[in-house]
Amino acid sequence: MNSYDTIVIGAGAAGLSAALVLGRARRRVLVLDGGPPRNARAAHVNGYLGIDGLSPLELLEVGRVQVEKLGVEIVAGAASLVEAEGDGFAVVAGGERWHAKRLVLAAGITDALPDIPGVAEGFGVDVFHCPYCHGYEVAGRRLAVIGTQPMSGHQVRMVRQWTDDLVLFTNDTIELDAAERRLFAARGVEVVDGPVSEIVRRDGALQGVRAGGSVHEVAAVFVAPTMVLNLDAFAGFDLEMTDTPMGPVVATDQVGATNVPGLWAAGNVADAGSQVIAAAAQGARVGAAINGSLVEEDWAAAAQPSS
Ligand SMILES: Cc1cc2nc3c(=O)[nH]c(=O)nc-3n(C[C@H](O)[C@H](O)[C@H](O)COP(=O)(O)OP(=O)(O)OC[C@H]3O[C@@H](n4cnc5c(N)ncnc54)[C@H](O)[C@@H]3O)c2cc1C
Repeated sequence: MNSYDTIVIGAGAAGLSAALVLGRARRRVLVLDGGPPRNARAAHVNGYLGIDGLSPLELLEVGRVQVEKLGVEIVAGAASLVEAEGDGFAVVAGGERWHAKRLVLAAGITDALPDIPGVAEGFGVDVFHCPYCHGYEVAGRRLAVIGTQPMSGHQVRMVRQWTDDLVLFTNDTIELDAAERRLFAARGVEVVDGPVSEIVRRDGALQGVRAGGSVHEVAAVFVAPTMVLNLDAFAGFDLEMTDTPMGPVVATDQVGATNVPGLWAAGNVADAGSQVIAAAAQGARVGAAINGSLVEEDWAAAAQPSS
């Protein structure tokens, strides 16, 4: 009974959407739930038509109930090893081992945050990375971008669209030439040079950013994390990757198939920029593609001359 049509690795929006489509196609599906989604600390899922503002955990809870009603099994545990086995794959988690003909890789990414005191505790609350997710809620207020990597320059350009009152802390990580400084000045962006030492809060409420010995008051902070794909369990596969401005992601075709036959990928692991609605759509598309491949397998088997 440890054998499935499909195992879905990751119970976020992408993984559960794939499971929903496969469950409705009456496939035997196991979802491995390795822990909280990337946006777990945020209060709301913003920008999702129809459920805009729902809490991320509530969204996934609704999804879990819906897929379980279809007979999809959800098991808590992170896949620690995936390997080729027979007509598909073996997946190991927490001492258990399962087999599946197809796999959905929907394990998302981990945001590696800059090592600045106060950043990690506020991530998703008053420290953000994505203006599309959080810009509306803090628009028009005094906002900060803390330089962490080359993408920070892009973040300044983006966040400036949500406020006229923006300060960039270069944080000794991004260098601005004279032309860029002139451009930032022309767009009204204040630049504070030197390292940032901490995010300052009083009674849990954000006060500002400490740099050069002073606290600069701001209403919210933007940082660019380094996005690390959750791929450790797939170390044994020669997964093709593709470069993007946000870093490498798993390369897929238009329906989410990777270069490893039988392995599909959906959500942030294959598209680091996708918001929840896009991750869910990618999962749904992968679910249908996998079901289609299983349907074709049955017809191909029937076309073989019987012995
Ligand atoms: C702070 C923050 C706020 C955000 N706010 C918004 C917002 O308002 N609106 C919006 O649209 N988007 C928002 N996003 C983006 C959103 O988080 C992503 O679009 C979405 O989570 C991508 O879905 P996913 O299913 O690909 O990944 P995830 O939701 O991260 O799901 C992947 C799941 O796989 C699990 N996993 C990891 N490794 C394994 C393993 N080995 N085995 C099994 N499971 C594993 C993870 O624990 C996780 O539960 C925000 C992101 C952040 C960081």
